[in-house]
Amino acid sequence: MSTDCIFCKIVAGEIPATKVYEDEDVIAFNDIHPIAPVHFMIVPKEHIESLASAEEKHQALLGKILLLAPKLAKQQGLKGFRTMINTGREGGQEVFHLHVHVFGGGASLPKT
Ligand code: 5GP
Ligand code: ZN
Repeated sequence: MSTDCIFCKIVAGEIPATKVYEDEDVIAFNDIHPIAPVHFMIVPKEHIESLASAEEKHQALLGKILLLAPKLAKQQGLKGFRTMINTGREGGQEVFHLHVHVFGGGASLPKT
């Protein structure tokens, strides 16, 4: 746990969040500033700063997070969804604890 990390505080239950899933390795909760009708993030409980800091030992954890995305999206009623991982300040990352955004539910998502 990193003491001044918002997502570590959510993992520890020190900051409230609307959880959509939790197990021993990961937690998923709604984004506080959603950019789509459904917008949640899947977050490893371990503090990994970003995708660029992930190591070989995190391979199974990363796979687990990706495989969770369609399951949780389906539970949220989404027929399709978009995932996003912002990496580094220049990649638009604001919270430096690895997270996978999952969003959808709009009439249409903008093309990238
Ligand atoms: P990033 O730009 O790092 O990929 O995304 C960070 C996301 O975390 C943003 O979409 C932001 O709205 C969300 N966020 C920041 N602080 C909190 C918080 O305290 N609670 C929740 N649920 N989401 C947060
Ligand atoms: Zn953290």
